[in-house]
Amino acid sequence: MAAHDTGAGVRAEFDDGSEAFGDLLIGCDGVHSTVRRLIDPTAPAPSYAGLINTGGYASGVSVDTEPGSYEMIFGKRAFFGYLKADDGQVWWFSNVPRRDEPARGELAAVSGEEWRRRMLELYAEDAGPAVSLIEATPEIMPMTAIHSIPHLPRWHNDRMIVVGDAAHAPSPSSGQGASLSIEDGVPSACGTCPPRKRRSPSSLPNAVPGSSASSRPPPASTTTRRPARSAGCSATPSCR
Ligand SMILES: Cc1cc2nc3c(=O)[nH]c(=O)nc-3n(C[C@H](O)[C@H](O)[C@H](O)COP(=O)(O)OP(=O)(O)OC[C@H]3O[C@@H](n4cnc5c(N)ncnc54)[C@H](O)[C@@H]3O)c2cc1C
Repeated sequence: MAAHDTGAGVRAEFDDGSEAFGDLLIGCDGVHSTVRRLIDPTAPAPSYAGLINTGGYASGVSVDTEPGSYEMIFGKRAFFGYLKADDGQVWWFSNVPRRDEPARGELAAVSGEEWRRRMLELYAEDAGPAVSLIEATPEIMPMTAIHSIPHLPRWHNDRMIVVGDAAHAPSPSSGQGASLSIEDGVPSACGTCPPRKRRSPSSLPNAVPGSSASSRPPPASTTTRRPARSAGCSATPSCR
């Protein structure tokens, strides 16, 4: 993909030969963003976070938490996060430490059942429902390496901007990435939505208020981390 500032807007050219033209190009294309490199070809590559991640959906397990409350357990050997949905199903994810970055295809070569076996060992000594949830999950999601973007020196130019993980991917254990992405989306929409008298998007800082650091609103959510050994939690009102 390529993109060009024509002076009157941005022309994006896609790999399939198609083109699109608009006032602005907003890159919401995740941690391995293409738009980030269009804005700054020297942008730092995402850093491997030293963790691999999987997850799943478990039914029939009773967990002691309210829907909407995210429980995060910093276990002895691995991190475990879970959330009860309104229908009682439990959505969970697991972050397993791994020092070296996996080679391409390496994680995918391990079956879900093998990951299940390994995770049951990892969480065996931890309090909390990790073992029950993993056992009750029909299908373990593919394991993937986690990357983060700790700092991005340049995240917009006059007509292009990256938002969400493309600009600032945090570790999943922060529980903040989606929230931050939504917070990015609000000023982007407010600066460009039709109901308002449209500004002349002569430059991105004018069209997208949030692209000026000084005008960015404060975060709408916070995470509190408490130290824990075999069982503990953070980011939930119940354990503050
Ligand atoms: C296990 C785990 C748990 C998490 N838990 C939480 C949590 O509790 N709370 C929280 O706030 N955040 C959490 N996060 C983080 C959250 O998922 C991300 O921060 C969020 O999804 C980022 O949203 P995004 O739209 O910026 O990027 P993404 O969700 O990555 O979306 C980017 C999209 O762009 C598409 N794309 C990429 N390149 C192209 C291209 N060239 N052309 C077309 N499409 C393209 C991708 O396919 C993808 O659909 C968690 C993340 C993980 C991995």
